[in-house]
Amino acid sequence: MTYQQILDQGKECLRQAQIPEADLGAWYLFAECFKMDRARFFLCSQEEAPSDQIDRYQSFLRGRLRHIPLEYLIHRTEFMGLSYYVDSRVLIPRQDTECLVEEALLLCKDKDVLDLCTGSGCIGISLAVLGACRSVTLSDASEEALAVARENGLAHSVDVAFVKSDLFEEVDGDFDIIVSNPPYIARKEIQRLMPEVRDYEPVMALDGGEDGLFFYKKIMDQLPGHLRRGGMVLFEIGFDQGKAVRRLLENRAFVRIEVKKDLAGLDRVVCAQYEG
Ligand code: GLN
Repeated sequence: MTYQQILDQGKECLRQAQIPEADLGAWYLFAECFKMDRARFFLCSQEEAPSDQIDRYQSFLRGRLRHIPLEYLIHRTEFMGLSYYVDSRVLIPRQDTECLVEEALLLCKDKDVLDLCTGSGCIGISLAVLGACRSVTLSDASEEALAVARENGLAHSVDVAFVKSDLFEEVDGDFDIIVSNPPYIARKEIQRLMPEVRDYEPVMALDGGEDGLFFYKKIMDQLPGHLRRGGMVLFEIGFDQGKAVRRLLENRAFVRIEVKKDLAGLDRVVCAQYEG
């Protein structure tokens, strides 16, 4: 079979099963299996493909038919223009989260930064690579997630600290900036998520308690002693949580609270200054 035939078949197979973004998914799996980019494909699409790699492609397609996220199949995703290793131990970094990193990048030069609930490490490591921070600490309650974050830290050769900690429990010292994309899906909503997320991503990284706000409250309550006076906290939030998270901050010692929108025009990030 030629490369062209294999790719066409892959697209057709995912389309027929109504897998979301079938064509794009078929291409990415194909590109990964055959180490192909658009330019190379253009040159060799009519050549015969090696059969052992065809088998691998087919097993990838079977994975997508079972709704395994594409990123878990190829173990890779792009975030802030950087490549991150991912597997089912961590939430897959989302493009929406780049919005949080963009805001933090405006503030983090020469600062001590803590990324709480770091998962794959995508937020803290991106800040360490791009942000000229004084220090970056990454923490997560899951040892398994931290193993992935460590791997990503090594791959990007960043000098960051890793702490296994349930929120601030094991975190020493204080910081100028605390960033977090905590689990924020209301528990009863989880069943309604797409199967890729609901059945494969770590529920621990999704479940934000009854109202989805559990971690914001807990982080805000534990924050005194860890965020320096005048320091900033930046949270990613769900599109419908802007008002609620703003109110939680207003009821505590935070000022200059701002809710920022993502590229789709939805509330996505809340920033506030600590005056405690
Ligand atoms: N910080 C990681 C991310 O943004 C993981 C977030 C989480 O596990 N809730 O992708």
